Amino acid sequence: MPLADYRTYCQMIDRALAGRFAYPAFNVTSMATASAVLRGLAESKSDGILQVSTGGGSFASGSMVKDMALGAIAIAEYVQRVADRYPIYVALHTDHCQADKLDQFVNPLIAETERRRAGGLPNLFNSHMFDGSALPLKENLDIAVRLLERCRKSEIILEIEAGVVGGEEDGIKAEASAKLYTTPADTLEVARRMNAVGGARYLLAATFGNVHGVYKPGQVKLKPCILKDCQDAVVKAYGDAARFALVFHGGSGSTVAEIREAVDYGVVKMNIDTDTQYAFTRPIADHMLKNYDGVLKVDGEVGSKKAYDPRTYLAAAERSMAERVKQAVRDLRGEGTTLYRDCPSGNGNRTRNI
Ligand SMILES: [Zn+2]
Repeated sequence: MPLADYRTYCQMIDRALAGRFAYPAFNVTSMATASAVLRGLAESKSDGILQVSTGGGSFASGSMVKDMALGAIAIAEYVQRVADRYPIYVALHTDHCQADKLDQFVNPLIAETERRRAGGLPNLFNSHMFDGSALPLKENLDIAVRLLERCRKSEIILEIEAGVVGGEEDGIKAEASAKLYTTPADTLEVARRMNAVGGARYLLAATFGNVHGVYKPGQVKLKPCILKDCQDAVVKAYGDAARFALVFHGGSGSTVAEIREAVDYGVVKMNIDTDTQYAFTRPIADHMLKNYDGVLKVDGEVGSKKAYDPRTYLAAAERSMAERVKQAVRDLRGEGTTLYRDCPSGNGNRTRNI
């Protein structure tokens, strides 16, 4: 069934590490954006990751409710319902959750998975991110280790961050500083603390000059070689099995060469939001500008129902975003890499198990 279980998700990560490709992880905030990702991944024959941020969850729950965990659950349930119509595997993840939001977001989501598992149902999410990068490393890892121990019991993978990604995401701004570049010493400490939680898996967002949002070429100084230094240090200290499965945040505007260099050094997941936001909105802008007298009631006229029906422009937005999803898969060398082999027709004629 195309919603990856723990074993499949681990297999996806291991294959990417060994095969030097990576999975794109797209932020989704609605049924339309989730459908765009599923379509783009399926047309690329690539597995992938859909993720919900705290702001995305709040948005998805409705402007009157604004409950970030509830909105994330609603999106996850939507994806679980429709995913088996697409001949690929997808994993569900939640994006940046700072320490002060754990009780509103990640903790209730883990609790929901625990409740489901107790009833014999599969996990709600495959992985969650805890972002303690604003804290001193020791405090960051103290919280991360406690969370990882809890996640292990429910076969949830935890993503953590060491170093700070610059720019702005969901209204959280990070200032430019030395912390934009993770050090090998920091990542050795991450490995020492996290690997002590035996039998658990985690992903590491190590920063190498990444910035959230989009900037003109030349503004962002990525140094992917930092990732190589960190991998070399951890392998030297703890052996090849300790090699990190890395996550690339803030990659919008990066060149394909930079992306592939990062993948060569062990990036298995690359977050994509800004670029797919633009791809979604672009055809909507086009539609509004071209159909000005249809979408508006100008000078006492009645407009055109066909032009202002949201389905018209949202369907165009979905197609455009799906194309950007396909580009991301190509950039990450993921085309045709799906593990999903036993349903070549892609009709989803397999048993659903949710
Ligand atoms: Zn990020």
